[in-house]
Amino acid sequence: MAKAKILLVEDSKVQAGLVRDFLEKTGYEVIWAENGKSAIKTAKTMSVDIILLDLMLPDISGNEVCRWLKLNENTRGIPIIMLTAKDAITDKVAGLEAGADDYLPKPYNEIELNARIYASLRTKALQDELKQKNRQLENLLKQVEIMAITDQLTGIYNRRRLVTILEKEFRRTVRYKSPLTCLMIDIDHFKRINDKFSHHTGDMVIKETAQIITECAREIDTVARWGGEEFIALFPQTKKEDALQSAVRIIKKVSEHKFPEISNERITISIGIASVPDPSIDTEEKLIHASDMALYKAKKNGRNRAELG
Ligand code: GH3
Ligand code: MG
Ligand code: MG
Ligand code: MG
Repeated sequence: MAKAKILLVEDSKVQAGLVRDFLEKTGYEVIWAENGKSAIKTAKTMSVDIILLDLMLPDISGNEVCRWLKLNENTRGIPIIMLTAKDAITDKVAGLEAGADDYLPKPYNEIELNARIYASLRTKALQDELKQKNRQLENLLKQVEIMAITDQLTGIYNRRRLVTILEKEFRRTVRYKSPLTCLMIDIDHFKRINDKFSHHTGDMVIKETAQIITECAREIDTVARWGGEEFIALFPQTKKEDALQSAVRIIKKVSEHKFPEISNERITISIGIASVPDPSIDTEEKLIHASDMALYKAKKNGRNRAELG
């Protein structure tokens, strides 16, 4: 194991020499700084594990050095043990208030000094471990959050996320009377793909179709897998007639796409389109229902097409 690195801040050369000898014999690596300025510089530039800080220094007081180190992001984690000839309660309090982790009046017993150093290092190791665990936990939470809103197969938003976004967009649309269009998209005769190839191949086709639809969407649009081989695309700030043009583009793109997993056989989709503001649509559910009805019409009228609700 690497030796723990101690920064010893002590202006008296004699005292510093004595402590240094003892600490080095005990098995620590010691860096000596004889004033506050060089202490701060060393703490900033070298990774030290603990600081023994004399209160009385020729330039800046130990309390000031301590305060500075505890304010600084990169040095605040280093334990500081204040060493001082003053042992009045007020001095101790001042040191601890400045952020010192421990306090040892001079002249100190070497065994006690060693025990304090050991305890501080142990605390620091635990804190470091805790920090790392916290970081791991944060990363895990982020992953869980992403997973909760992502469709596993396609990597696009799932139904839950779509509902949340739809609620938000719908509120906006009611408030500002801006248009919002919902596209219900369904792959045509998909059962045949599953039957002719395999369920797994069907999955690959769903994934690729999701990709194509997503590529057609703008930054402000939302594309989600609604379930099975159905998708919903939400187009904010878009009127039905403009959405129809986009829908036709998506339909064309899918129908022209070669799906390698089904020997380049072609796939078509049908799209139902509904929009607000519309006097008969006053909830999100009704908007989705209207687009579903339009989709039904598209299927009935021959598939591979879009219909307005
Ligand atoms: P239509 O043109 O009327 O939409 O015909 P369709 O065959 O696509 O019929 P429908 O939309 O009613 O059925 C979709 C089928 O897709 C039903 C189910 O077997 C299949 N399916 C649903 N979810 C999945 C999935 O996650 N993976 C695969 N491979 N198949 C799915
Ligand atoms: Mg001093
Ligand atoms: Mg379907
Ligand atoms: Mg279908």
